[in-house]
Amino acid sequence: MRSALLLVWLAAAAGTPEATRAAERPPAVSSAGEREIALATAEMEKTRALVEAGAVPRSQLDRAQQALDDARDAACLRRTLYSPDLTEAETDAMLAAARRRLERRQKELQKTEQLADAGAVSRLSLTGPLEAVDSARRELDAALSRARLIHEIAQMARAELAIEEHLEPSAATLLPYGERYDGDGVFDIAGLARIEAAFLTRFAHDLPVSALGQTAVHRALGFDHRNRVDVALDPDQAEGVWLRQFLESHRIPYFAFRTSVPGKSTAPHIHIGPVSGRLSKGG
Ligand SMILES: [Zn+2]
Repeated sequence: MRSALLLVWLAAAAGTPEATRAAERPPAVSSAGEREIALATAEMEKTRALVEAGAVPRSQLDRAQQALDDARDAACLRRTLYSPDLTEAETDAMLAAARRRLERRQKELQKTEQLADAGAVSRLSLTGPLEAVDSARRELDAALSRARLIHEIAQMARAELAIEEHLEPSAATLLPYGERYDGDGVFDIAGLARIEAAFLTRFAHDLPVSALGQTAVHRALGFDHRNRVDVALDPDQAEGVWLRQFLESHRIPYFAFRTSVPGKSTAPHIHIGPVSGRLSKGG
């Protein structure tokens, strides 16, 4: 049991957590994305007919196929990168789409560079492809940072699950990993505003909320995180110590997860609210 828990703690987290707000899922595909895919599909069919009629070279078909693939990747990014709520599986699709978009633009730039070197086009023709590569690289950076955040939320959720399932926590069994305070046993997410305001007054920056209530990650794990909040603070650092004291003075229940494996990067955090539960089927 202990080793199962250690594995959870050993899974390293990277990146700076930022707030992820649980929200209604966006529509599966944005209408703009659907339009783009429909246009690219129509272009592809038109080109195929022209190629079969011998009116245009086959290379144009590859171009049309690439445009269609790119439109599909753009639609994938729209519904993932800019969505407030993602699962881990969706982050993989998001990263793959962002990488493919960058690769396509790098190839396009290479081709234009070869043409410019051969004197077939002016160097000015490189401006557009260069900008496209820059923009795709920024898109990939944003996707990577988004993915780090989602994996961090998932790691925190798994640590919570491990504690709750394997340790049947009492204050004594939890000690090496963190601390549990039961307070009044209830927490309403509306009460977060008061905690955030007090934290801001005390430290002059926002409370680093990493998971607000139920998120797609928690849903995917079958984990009930409604009316619970994860704060990315080490419970033994000044801000974490202050938060725990504030919660205790208001009898608000919390779980403090601390770094328990020396020399290993873990995801210490403070879970505000009672112990989470398993979602009932379909919940
Ligand atoms: Zn939590």
